[in-house]
Amino acid sequence: MIEQIEIGDPPIQIMIKRSMRARRYSLRMSNATGTVNLTVPRFASLEAAIEFARIQEGWIRKHLATRVKPQTLNFGSTILFDGVECEIRQGTGRSVRYEDGILYVPGQADKLAAKLRGYYKTIARERMVAASVYYADKLARPIGRVTIRDTRSRWGSCTSEGNLMYSWRLIMAPRQVQAYVAAHEVCHLIEMNHSQAYWALVANIFPEYKERRQWLKQNGALLHRYAF
Ligand SMILES: [Zn+2]
Repeated sequence: MIEQIEIGDPPIQIMIKRSMRARRYSLRMSNATGTVNLTVPRFASLEAAIEFARIQEGWIRKHLATRVKPQTLNFGSTILFDGVECEIRQGTGRSVRYEDGILYVPGQADKLAAKLRGYYKTIARERMVAASVYYADKLARPIGRVTIRDTRSRWGSCTSEGNLMYSWRLIMAPRQVQAYVAAHEVCHLIEMNHSQAYWALVANIFPEYKERRQWLKQNGALLHRYAF
């Protein structure tokens, strides 16, 4: 059963969900919709839930204010490509084309997101394979398979067999950030951890790694805001 309450001014709407299993109050916010959900233990009173929400009001407001708003893709809207905001325009022919800061996407608007996603995946694969080979050569190590996925929690990974995985959303990050993620993952071919020895290896083949890592931490959410 879901109840809705309002707190503060301007009012914030909070959906209250009673849970059989919950032992404590937990607040969750959906980045996509901005909905605030409060899960409360089965027998908690509505008053207690409102009280809890009131105490957390500052935190809720702060999170709502910094929420990265999702962006839908349309002709005329913009999207990141290699770290630069590019305009999306109607294209001709069969394939997506990039020229001078503009992405030309052929076909109907309802196919736009899928076409752009296909294009991003293709370019991301080329880039990440090339960068992985380049940095693995510096370490004199062979790489295994490279797969490209849409991952939420990580930008890349490396298995003990040397297989690499990258998020194709990295194509929206600056090229130096893409290169850093490749350098980061191939260093795991030697060190399967984040020890001091590991970071020394990264610094050796990619000296400016700190700035690139910082960029991902600060702006990573921007790459997930588009609804493909
Ligand atoms: Zn790592």
